[in-house]
Formats: sequence, structure tokens, C-alpha cells
Amino acid sequence: MTKKYDVIVVGAGPAGLMVAKTASGSGLNIALLERKTDISKVRRTDGSTIGINEYLFWEVVKFNRKTQTFIFPVSGFSLGYDGPWNDNMYGFHIYSPGGKRFMIGDWKELSKDPEKNSVGVRISKGRLLQGILDDARANGVEFLPGTNVTDIKHTETGAVVTANGDEYEGRYIVAADGINSRIVELIGLNKDRKFAGTMRDQTWLMEGVEISESAGMIFVLTMYGRFYILPLAEKGRFHVGTSTHDPDMDLEANLQRFTREDNVYSSWVKNAKRLEGGESCVVNLWQVLEKPYKDHVIMVGDAFWSQEFSITASLCAGHKLGHILTKAFHDKTFGEEGLVPYLDWYASNCIEPRGKRDVGVGGNLWDYLNAEELDYMAALPEKPVPHTLSFARLFGRIGGTYKELFPKIFEERPDIMEKLQKMLEDKEDIKSKVEKMGFPNR
Ligand SMILES: Cc1cc2nc3c(=O)[nH]c(=O)nc-3n(C[C@H](O)[C@H](O)[C@H](O)COP(=O)(O)OP(=O)(O)OC[C@H]3O[C@@H](n4cnc5c(N)ncnc54)[C@H](O)[C@@H]3O)c2cc1C
Repeated sequence: MTKKYDVIVVGAGPAGLMVAKTASGSGLNIALLERKTDISKVRRTDGSTIGINEYLFWEVVKFNRKTQTFIFPVSGFSLGYDGPWNDNMYGFHIYSPGGKRFMIGDWKELSKDPEKNSVGVRISKGRLLQGILDDARANGVEFLPGTNVTDIKHTETGAVVTANGDEYEGRYIVAADGINSRIVELIGLNKDRKFAGTMRDQTWLMEGVEISESAGMIFVLTMYGRFYILPLAEKGRFHVGTSTHDPDMDLEANLQRFTREDNVYSSWVKNAKRLEGGESCVVNLWQVLEKPYKDHVIMVGDAFWSQEFSITASLCAGHKLGHILTKAFHDKTFGEEGLVPYLDWYASNCIEPRGKRDVGVGGNLWDYLNAEELDYMAALPEKPVPHTLSFARLFGRIGGTYKELFPKIFEERPDIMEKLQKMLEDKEDIKSKVEKMGFPNR
């Protein structure tokens, strides 16, 4: 039997939850289908950090510490949050194999005034999602956990999805099923997207990591892989992880090596305990979708994007779509016509500013520079670069810093300049190698 609703939302991540909560709040009859049985248990890698106090995409989030509320002033809504949090977060520090550090943000100085300087709040993502789900259910959303959508077909007035042998029909299907969206694949939209590779990530949950400064995200470049250490919202806990585009790299073995054998970094972790509850993910990198709509199916969040759309942007896009769906039903204007304001919003806020960039993946610095050369490069900037949590700004600031330093490097270390030049020349070859190694191509 086919169950009928106004809208079927597939996926209870930040985007789908916000669509469901917002549209149900104004009376739409919504079914929310989620393949996980408990969304409060996050197993897919996530830094669980909400960027605040600087523009990320179109939004500049504020956090009210007293009421534990996130405020989204551009999008025009707020979200209460009742879990653990920590806003002692001032950007990124990048370490080289020998322990030299390139600082994006002077953490010591900035942490004197967290309320003013913080650019992120670390949260429990599971608690945030559970809170939104509770609101959505209070509005009357029918939540169906453990429901895996495996097929979709179009009808004259909408579309039908199949999950666990049942059918669910709506005027619209919202594909909020994340970065490896099955719905996007099923309706054929991946055929027109450029594929750039597959990223795998593995993260250990650890307690007792000893680092002198940990007020942000720490990236470590070694000669055998890239690692990160991220303090969590829960005091004393850290994520220690690694990622790669190489399908043959053994991430578990690499984490063992980093935490137990590395001459420099194992000392940070030697007394730390690995706890149950690590995370992992496999992410296919596709070019963003130019138009997130086809035949009564509308995409939102990571489903229309590439990597790093973020929790914030997904919440805001979901909120926007929830309101536009409400308007479409009020006006009784269905199909693509009913969603024109959403498609226009997407074009001007997502595609125009960010959607046209190349998603191709660059090479590993350690394939070109040896440990001593990486140490030299990390130690070169004389003062910290202004802090940020935006990856777009981060790469811009790193690029800008080294561009200014190129004359000095050229003079002191022409050998390094030559190797960097070679890396630049190999760019297209590296991109195509990573693309070929990706899952859809194997
Ligand atoms: C390594 C990594 C670290 C990150 N760290 C951060 C960070 O610190 N801060 C930040 O803001 N962002 C971070 N992000 C990005 C952030 O995780 C995503 O942008 C965000 O979660 C996207 O929300 P979404 O709702 O679109 O998708 P998702 O959160 O992926 O949710 C999709 C939901 O759909 C469900 N689903 C999938 N397929 C089906 C199906 N067939 N049937 C039913 N249900 C289905 C999934 O189970 C899931 O619950 C990170 C991403 C990665 C890869």
C-alpha cells in the first residue's frame, strides 16, 4: 500500500530535519524517512563544530552562551541546544613532521577573550539533531527511523519512494540524504557532474591527549600521511584522525603508527586511552549540482553540494526550503514553479559565490618535500596569520602568506622552489590520478 503525504523528506541530518521541522510547523503533512535507527549516535566523521562570528557562505552565526542558543540572523531563525559545548576555538594550527608549527590564529592571545574572538563552538552533533527532531515530531512529522530508501519513481502529480518494501508518495520528495546521495544517483543527476575522487577518513575517540595548546583544529603533516587532532565538546576528549584519497592506504595502521611510534607526535598521545565510539566516512567528491531539482525531487544540503557544505549551511538551506514548500502548498503552485524562490536563492547564495570552483584534489606535500624541507616551510612565517574556521579563507590565507615569502624561499632554498614548481606542473596529472582511484571509477 502506498502511504501519502504532502512531502517526503529522505534523510534526518541537519538539512532534512530543518525542512521537516519548518514545513510541519506551518501545517504540512510530512514523512521523514531515515535509514539510521538512532540519529543521536553520530558515526560518520564530523568535526561537530559550528562556525560563529564570521561569514560562512551567506550566514554569520552567533552563539548566546547564557541561553545556549545559536542565532542565524541572515536566515532569520534560532536554535536552542541543550548538549555540552566549548567555544574555546580559534582556527587551525598546522604542524610539520619535525614538530614545527604554522599558526592560523594566535591561540594564547585570542583565548584571553573567547566571547569576542571565538570562531567556533564544538558541540555534540547528535544532541543538536535530536533536539530538532523532537521539535519536528511535536509539530506532527511522522518520523520513520530504520527506513532505507532504495528506489524512486515519478507520478503525474509528484513522486514515490520505496523503502523497506513500502511506498511513500508526496507532491515533492526532498533528497536530504547527504553527500553520497542515492536519490541524486537514482534520478540520473550524477551523469552530468564532474567526479573528482573519493576521500576516506577514520577517527579515534581518545581521552588524555597531552598538547600544550589545543584551542582549535590541529593538522599534522608527516611523511606517511596527514592527521588531525580535535578537542571535543566533552572536556578531555579528542578526535585523532586521518584521511586519504588513496584506496590502498591502511588508515587504522597509519593511526597506530602516528599515535604509538611517531618520534614527535606519539608523545602527545602516549598516555591517552582509545575509547569506543570512533567515527569514519567515505565521501565521493562530485561537482556541485547546478540546479537542485528534477521532476518533483528537490535536493538540499550535502546532497546538492560537494565537500564541506557544513552543518550551518545545511540547517539554513533546510529552513529556507521548508518555508518555500509551505508557500508552494498555500499558493497551490506545484512542480518546479512552486520552488522558483528556492532555486533562485540557491543560485545566488550557493552557485554564484561558491559553486563554480574546481573540486579537483591536489597532491600530498610529502610526496615532493622531505621532512627537513617541510619543517623549514612550517617555521617560515614569522607571525600567526589571522584566525578563521572557513576553509575557503584558510586556503586563501595560507596561499597569500607563502606568496609573500616566495622571494625569501627562492633566495634561501631554491631546491624547495624547484620541487614546489614541479608539484604545480603535476597538478592536472594528480587530479586525474585521484579521480581514477575514486570508487565510481573502480
Ligand atoms: C570529515 C568531515 C568533517 C566535517 N566537519 C564538520 C564540522 O566540524 N562542522 C560543520 O559544520 N560541518 C562539518 N562537516 C560537514 C557536515 O557534516 C555536513 O555538511 C552536514 O552534516 C550535511 O548535512 P545533510 O543533512 O545535508 O547530510 P547528512 O548529515 O549526511 O545527513 C544525511 C542523512 O540521510 C540519511 N540517509 C542517507 N541515505 C539514505 C537513504 N537511502 N534512506 C534514508 N536515509 C538516508 C543518513 O543516514 C543521514 O542521517 C564535515 C564533513 C566531513 C566529511
